[in-house]
Amino acid sequence: MNDDDFPFHEPFGPEYVRPKSANCPRCPCHTSRVCEGFQWHLASTPTYPDGSSYTEPCPCEQAASVPEDRTVLIELDGVLREVSAQYHRTGLLTGRLVTTRVFRAESPALGECPVAVPMALYRPKADTDSRLVVIDSVGEKWVMGFTAQHNLQRYRIAGWSDGRA
Ligand SMILES: [Zn+2]
Ligand SMILES: [Zn+2]
Repeated sequence: MNDDDFPFHEPFGPEYVRPKSANCPRCPCHTSRVCEGFQWHLASTPTYPDGSSYTEPCPCEQAASVPEDRTVLIELDGVLREVSAQYHRTGLLTGRLVTTRVFRAESPALGECPVAVPMALYRPKADTDSRLVVIDSVGEKWVMGFTAQHNLQRYRIAGWSDGRA
């Protein structure tokens, strides 16, 4: 019996080769790691096989620039409601979930805000007070943000805008 007949394969052989990052199946310009992680801003400018720069916008990045519709359960003044919201993956509100205008807000200097305001929620951190954490329609956790703005003035969200409690 020579070595070629030995029934066991080298157990670690192929694993030693670090796998090349797979290409994204939905675009011609990035790896899956970049698109699934929304990391286009970190990726180097994609190039064609001949080395010239890729000029078309990335379809994955473009799709992500459209805010994603979700709903979120928010309890305020002891009233729990399901509120429509949009999750922003890019742009000025990157990483925030912004609700429709269903809140009233106040400021010590200006009094009641004349318009209903949206709430911008953000990701919980390790030390976030769990009483401020809410869950959206895809099961992601968010922290309620109580700062609102109107005409460049800061207000604080104080309740539901229609006053029902
Ligand atoms: Zn992609
Ligand atoms: Zn791409």
